[in-house]
Parts: sequence; C-alpha cells; structure tokens
Amino acid sequence: MPLPEMSDTNTLHVAILPSSGMGHLVPAVRLAASLAARNCRITFITTHPTVSLAESRLVSRLVSFFPNVTRQEFHLLPLDRSTANSNDPFCLQFETIRRSAHLLSPILSSCSPPLSALVTDPSLVSAVIPITEKLRLANYNLFIASPKMLSLLIYFPTIANTDLSTTSSKTTDYIEIPGIPPLPKSWLPPPLVDPSSLFRTQFIANGQEIVKSDGILVNAFDSLDKATVAALNGGKVMGRLPPVITVGPFVPLEFEKGSPVEWLDRQPVGSVVYVCFGNRTAASREQIRELGDGLERSGCRFLWVVKEKKVGEIVGHGFLERVKEKGLVVKSWVEQGEVLAHPAVGLFLSHCGWNSITEAALYGVPILGWPQGGDQKINGEVIPKSGLGIWVETWGWEEIVKGEEIGDKIREMMGDEKLKVQAARIGEEARKSVGVGGSSYKGLEGLVEKMRKGR
Ligand code: UDP
Ligand code: UDP
Repeated sequence: MPLPEMSDTNTLHVAILPSSGMGHLVPAVRLAASLAARNCRITFITTHPTVSLAESRLVSRLVSFFPNVTRQEFHLLPLDRSTANSNDPFCLQFETIRRSAHLLSPILSSCSPPLSALVTDPSLVSAVIPITEKLRLANYNLFIASPKMLSLLIYFPTIANTDLSTTSSKTTDYIEIPGIPPLPKSWLPPPLVDPSSLFRTQFIANGQEIVKSDGILVNAFDSLDKATVAALNGGKVMGRLPPVITVGPFVPLEFEKGSPVEWLDRQPVGSVVYVCFGNRTAASREQIRELGDGLERSGCRFLWVVKEKKVGEIVGHGFLERVKEKGLVVKSWVEQGEVLAHPAVGLFLSHCGWNSITEAALYGVPILGWPQGGDQKINGEVIPKSGLGIWVETWGWEEIVKGEEIGDKIREMMGDEKLKVQAARIGEEARKSVGVGGSSYKGLEGLVEKMRKGR
C-alpha cells in the first residue's frame, strides 16, 4: 500500500481562482478538468458571495465528478460602491474580488500538500501577483478571450493616454500594436475609451502586471490566430513576455450536460440556425423584434435562446404561433456544447463571446458573427480570418439591424456549401489539436511539466 505522505510529495497541487461570470468560469472549470485528468490535485477557489446560481452549480458538478478537485471558499469583503465607478455587476464583482485579494494569502499558504502554482484570471491578475510573489508561488494566467485581445491587454498601458476616440480621418482611426495588423479604434471595448471607467482602470493595471506571470494560457489553437500567438511569443508585441501557451479549444465536459433539446433530434441534418448571445448580453427590445422578424423571413429552422422573460410580448404572440413548426424559442439556459455538437445545427448566429467562438470551431459549425459589446469585435475578427464564417461589420452595436437584412444573410450563409466545408475542416483541426500528440495537448503536458519544476 503506498504511503500517503509519499504520494503526497509527488502530487502536483494547483489552485485555480476564476473571476465572476460564466464566460470566466466555464474555461476555468474546463482547465481544472484537464489538469485533474492528468493526476493533478486541484483546489478550485470560489468567491462568496457569487453572482449567480448557475456558477455555483457548475462548480459543484466539477467537484463531485473529480475526487482530486476540492472547492475552497473565498469570502469577500463588501465593496464600497461610492469608490467604484461602474454599473456593470461583473466589473463590480471583479473589483470586489480584487480588493479582497489580501485574504487569499492564508488560503493559499494553508493548502496541503503545498501548492505549486496558482492559475488566475485576466481581470484579477494585478491584485493577485503581489500575493503569489510574496508566497514565491508560480502564477499563471488563464486568458479567456482571443489572442488579439491579449495583445491589446498587454499593449494598452502604453497607449492608454493617447487619443482613442474615433474620428472621420482614417489614418488616426487605428491602434498600432507592434507585430500585429492595426486594430480599428471602433473595435475597442467601449469602457476602455471612457477615462473614468473602473473597467479601464482595472484593464491598465492588469496589462502592466500580466507580463510578470509565469505563463499565459489561451483557449486557442493554430486555426484561431496562430499569427498573433507567434507575434506574442516572438517578442514582437513586447519584449520579455511570459510564454503564451495555446491549450484550446477547451472541450465541453460530460458533467456540463443538461437536459438535451430534444426538438433538435426531429430536425434534418444541418437545417437549424442556432441563435444565442451568451449569458450576459442584453439586446434592445427593438433589436430582438427585428431579429425575430429576420429569423422568420429567412425561412430556415431555428433554435433561438433569448434571455428575456417576456419574449412573447416583444416579438408578438402571433410570431410564436406562426413559427412554431419551424422554430423553437428558449428562455432558459441551454447546454451550448450539446447544441453545437448536434448534427441538425448548420449555423450559429453568435455575439462573438470567445467561449462561443471556440465551441463553434470545435464542432465545425459556421458562425454568423454579430458582436454586441465588450471584447466581442476584437474576438470576432478571427471568424472571417480563419474561414469559420462571416462577420457583417456594418452590423454595429448601436444602430438597429433590420429583419430583412438579417433574414437575407442567414439564408445566404445556410446555402453556402464552401463555408460548411471550411468550418468542418476547422473542426477537424480543432479536434486534432486537443487529441493525443496535438499542439494543445502538448501545451497542457508542457504546462504540467513546467509547474512540476516550480519557479
Ligand atoms: N452558454 C450556455 N448556454 C447558454 C448561454 C451560454 O451553455 O444558454 C455558455 C457557452 O457555451 C459559453 C459561455 O456560456 O461557454 C458563454 O461564454 P462566452 O464567452 O461565449 O460569452 P459571455 O457570456 O461571456 O459573453
Ligand atoms: N479583461 C482583461 N482585463 C481586465 C478585465 C477584463 O483582460 O482587467 C478582458 C477579459 O479577458 C475579456 C474582456 O476583457 O476578454 C472583457 O471582459 P468581461 O468580463 O467584461 O466580458 P465577458 O467576456 O465576460 O463578456
């Protein structure tokens, strides 16, 4: 019988601290599962109070699935709202966690066996690095958006005080980040342009500090912006960066599965447009109405996830009646991995959240990208570039896009055979990269090796 102390000394023990929001938690959970499957012991740190019940449920499932994953509660101090300029509950929660970061020290130092590394989130990095430095603990960052967004985070402190507003003059409407093509200023997450926003303050601090981490993990693979990863690792964006390790696309896990959307089983292969704008993007009522109109006009079958309680009131009860043969409108959470993996789904109309893009890539589903805010335009750039789909750049986040235009675009894409072949090829490459011997598989193996060696 092995002595427990002996096996303990050989165990790699890693703590993971995600930030708030499913878009941050989902990749952290998938990373935890990948490491746990490689015999690492994981302490998964969850903040209390949390923002949502969905987050708390997902962590419970992770812990009950893997005996080597334990949950550690991190109790946050209340935030003095008068000192935090933001109305975004997620950004406020980032701030709450950041200001409580000093309470992490005793949690991290009391872990047994002792920790080899902490993996944290881009929104927390500048608050957490001083803690791990003091504890001489390796600090890795799980970057949850695109490689391009990572370049922006790293370079933004250098340009933060330049004029970031968009003008009619073309030459000044771009940001020049060394090593990558110029980025239109109009793609910037809007809070970055507001000098007083809390998000911007955090973003600058995090951009300055992330360069001190021991490694940055990105949920990407060769087809999703190899060039930017190469520019980052080649020292072109900035010298002396930690290694940027591609580990994606993360694969949705068995225990994430919810109740399947059985309606999909009754639809022909490739016939359904899946529409979902993530779990925190709220479109205006008028835009929701036009989107409904567009789906109806397209003549295609659709599965539409609308995070809106009164859909009937917005799109009209007549709409729901008329489309009931062809469309399914869902107000609750669907397990997106299962939906995208379903053979009936032929197109994904997406807000370009990074997790959504990588999930579509994994299953080879073409995307019609329609960024709605935040980092989504910068993420969405890879869709046309990789060949995974189309992003209609004239569909902004301010003006209302008419149903007729939406319907035409959907019909056009559903009939595009070349696009289907391209997307399927990206899906194959994605699965190859996470399969045994693939680039992301090797990325994870190398990461475990590096963590074992210590700092
Ligand atoms: N998601 C889901 N069901 C939903 C809405 C979202 O499973 O009804 C998942 C989706 O698969 C993805 C995450 O939630 O993993 C959303 O992350 P993303 O980065 O796409 O967008 P965000 O919600 O952060 O804007
Ligand atoms: N982000 C960052 N540093 C920060 C805060 C956020 O790099 O200090 C990144 C984050 O990784 C994401 C983007 O900024 O790519 C927007 O983050 P947010 O959580 O607001 O949006 P979400 O992806 O959850 O919709």
